[in-house]
Amino acid sequence: MGRVYNFSAGPAVLPESVLKEVAEEMLDYNGTGMSVMEMSHRSAAFQQIIDEAERDIRDLMNIPDNYKVLFLQGGASQQFAMIPMNLMKNRVADYIVTGQWAKKAYQEAQKYGKANKIASSEDKTFSYIPDCSDLPISPDADYVYICENNTIYGTKFKKLPNTKGKDLVADVSSCFLSEPVDVSKYAIIYGGVQKNIGPAGMVIAIVREDLITEEVLPGTPTMLTYKTHADAGSLYNTPNAYCIYVCGKVFKWLKAMGGLEEMKRRNEEKAKLLYDFLDSSKLFHGTVVPKDRSLMNVPFVTGDKEMDAKFVKEAASAGLVNLKGHRSVGGMRASIYNAMPKEGVEALVAFMKKFEEENL
Ligand SMILES: *Cc1c(COP(=O)(O)O)cnc(C)c1O
Repeated sequence: MGRVYNFSAGPAVLPESVLKEVAEEMLDYNGTGMSVMEMSHRSAAFQQIIDEAERDIRDLMNIPDNYKVLFLQGGASQQFAMIPMNLMKNRVADYIVTGQWAKKAYQEAQKYGKANKIASSEDKTFSYIPDCSDLPISPDADYVYICENNTIYGTKFKKLPNTKGKDLVADVSSCFLSEPVDVSKYAIIYGGVQKNIGPAGMVIAIVREDLITEEVLPGTPTMLTYKTHADAGSLYNTPNAYCIYVCGKVFKWLKAMGGLEEMKRRNEEKAKLLYDFLDSSKLFHGTVVPKDRSLMNVPFVTGDKEMDAKFVKEAASAGLVNLKGHRSVGGMRASIYNAMPKEGVEALVAFMKKFEEENL
């Protein structure tokens, strides 16, 4: 079997050209006679890899100089604790709960202080983004927290919440580098890389410098203090060196593709193919309020569990894999990240049309 179209929500599809490049460099990276996997993180060769990766993501996202880019371990989930430990000076934070990942972050923050749920879309199984133009922001909140793209439910904040001057912290795991962003609107913007950037096992946290201090909650481990990693250029301890290397390749791929404006154009084009079909289909329908639809994660159902299962199985036989919805929602979900080619979405839509004709 050759390569499939992989619609997994994460770990997810990577650009084929990047995979080929890292395969070519597997035994001998750039004349060093060794793989990046075997290389000291203190070597000049690796220092160049991490420096270039940082420079390239700074270019891509136009990251202002007063932000640090940290390559950390523990996944996005570790940030659920690291954020309150480092930012909760008043021990108060406001959370907008638009899905399971935001809910987990909200629950974790309760361990460290008063976490307020100031808005939620749980009443309608997280199928929309609440109006965040005039929320009851706590006067003493240390930050306001969102999950910007909800991987499981397929919603996305199209407009950032009005935080009434408070710092905004955003989990962008599943929309990282999918379109241009204005980093200066965030205090922290972070995401696990295994959705839209690289292999699993790393999170990139872009943190405004004034928030990186020694004044963290008592008992905060050295490894969970932003300052530890910021002071050491993400090399306090052994980082996920191979992952940094692959992410660096993806940054170069994104630049060669034309950067984030071009990715946005491509992602809109791909998502439109699928949403237009869903809106016209008699068998399949989308589950999200149209104005809040994600460009990255597209959940859909037939309304019949057995039909859903049949679809997922037959699609897999046709080389369209990992279309089963999250276990908490059921149905289907197509994740169409940066590295999913337009041909993959076209193949999916063609297959859905054929399946509809055969089964309606
Ligand atoms: C996948 C995901 C997470 C969890 O990531 P881990 O790296 O497994 O901890 C958190 N937030 C969002 C939005 C995700 O999609």
